[in-house]
Amino acid sequence: SSSRHAMTPPLSTSQTLNVDLGDRSYPITIGQGLLGDKTVVAGKIPGKRVAIVTNTVVAPLYLQQITAALTAAGKQVVPIVLPDGEEEKNWASLMKVFDVLLTEKCDRKTTLVALGGGVIGDLTGFAAAAYMRGVPFVQVPTTLLSQVDSSVGGKTGINHPLGKNMIGAFYQPQAVVADTSTLNTLPARELSAGLSEVIKHGAIIDPPFFDWIEANIDKLVKKDAAALGYAIKRSCEIKSDVVRQDEREGGLRAILNFGHTFGHAIEAGMGYGVWLHGEAVGCGMVMAADLSHRLGFIDEHAKARITAVVKAAGLPTVAPDLGERWIELMEVDKKNEGGQIKFILLKPLGKTVIMPVPLDVLQQTLAACTKA
Ligand code: NAD
Ligand code: MG
Repeated sequence: SSSRHAMTPPLSTSQTLNVDLGDRSYPITIGQGLLGDKTVVAGKIPGKRVAIVTNTVVAPLYLQQITAALTAAGKQVVPIVLPDGEEEKNWASLMKVFDVLLTEKCDRKTTLVALGGGVIGDLTGFAAAAYMRGVPFVQVPTTLLSQVDSSVGGKTGINHPLGKNMIGAFYQPQAVVADTSTLNTLPARELSAGLSEVIKHGAIIDPPFFDWIEANIDKLVKKDAAALGYAIKRSCEIKSDVVRQDEREGGLRAILNFGHTFGHAIEAGMGYGVWLHGEAVGCGMVMAADLSHRLGFIDEHAKARITAVVKAAGLPTVAPDLGERWIELMEVDKKNEGGQIKFILLKPLGKTVIMPVPLDVLQQTLAACTKA
C-alpha cells in the first residue's frame, strides 16, 4: 500500500462530526478524557435530571468520574447498574431500568445516558424510546465496537429467548460521546472484535482507509491513541454516511453486513458467546473475500490483504468445522429473504455487490476456509 495513505492526522483533544438525519441529526464527539470533562457530556443533556445506565464491569471504572463531572455541571444523577453480559440484554433488565425510573419519579425531561458497550447502548436506547413514549438519550460508548459501530445508526433493542435483537426500535440519540481513554481498560480480545468492524468499513467502501488500516494495524492493536482516534472517526463517518442514505435498512445499509452471513453462522453454530461477534465477522470477511475471489471479483492479492489484516488485528482467519450445518445456519440469516442466501461480495476491494452464488462455488469456499 502507498505511504500516502499511511499518515495519521495528529491527535487533537477532541473532534466532532455530525450525523445528518434532518431533524434527528446529532453530533458524535471523539477524544481522550471526555468523561471527566465538566462540559462535554453535560452540554448534550437538555434537562437537569440524568439516569446513567451502566453495568457491574463499567461502573467501578467510570461511573464516579462521569457522575462527578455531571454533578459539577449542576445535573442530578440517578445511577442504574445492571449485571454484565449479552445474556442480560433482555426484558428483565429493561424492566429494572423502568422500575428505577418510575421509583425515582423521573419525568419526560429526564435524559438516559448509556455508559458501556453495545449491550448497554442497545438496551438503554430502547428504554429511552419506550419510557413515557420517548425521552432524550445520550450514548457514551466504552468499547471499540460500540464506538465504531453500535452507537451510530439508531438501532436499539433487546434479545428474545427465540432470537437476538428481535425486540427493538429505531431511536436516534441526542449525541454520542466517545471517550477513547476508556479503551485503556478494554481487554485485548474485545479490542480486536471492534477492529473487525473498522476493517469492514474500509473493505466495503473506502480503499484509502483500508490502506491506512493495513499500515497502522499494529498501532491499533497496541492502542495507540492517535491511530484509534482516527479509526473511530473515519468509521463513524462511513457508517453514518450509509445510515443517512438508508436509515431504516431498506437497501444500502445491508452492505454493513459484509462478513456477517458467514459470521452469524459461526456465532450460532458454535453457540453464542463462544466466538465474539467481531471474531466471527473477521473470519466471515476472510470467507467472503475467498468467495469474491472464486467468482473472479477480486484478485488473489486483494484476498491475501484481507486475510493478513484480519490476522494482524488478532482475529481468527480459519473457520470452525460446522459440517453439514453451514448452509442451514446461513439460511436463518435475516438477509435471506425469498429463499436464496444473498452474499455481500467485494467487486473489487472497496466496493460491494449483493447476490446469490452458485452452490458449488460456496461449497469450495466453505471447504477452503474451514479447519480440517
Ligand atoms: P459488550 O457491551 O458486552 O461489552 C463487552 C465487554 O466489555 C463487557 O463485558 C463490558 O462490560 C466490557 N466493557 C465495556 N467497556 C469497557 C471498558 N472500557 N473497559 C473494560 N471493559 C469494558 O459488547 P460490545 O461488543 O460493546 O457490543 C455488543 C452488542 O452490541 C451486542 O449486543 C450487539 O447486538 C450490539 N450491536 C448493536 C449494533 C447496533 O447497530 N445497535 C451494532 C453492532 C452490535
Ligand atoms: Mg457487526
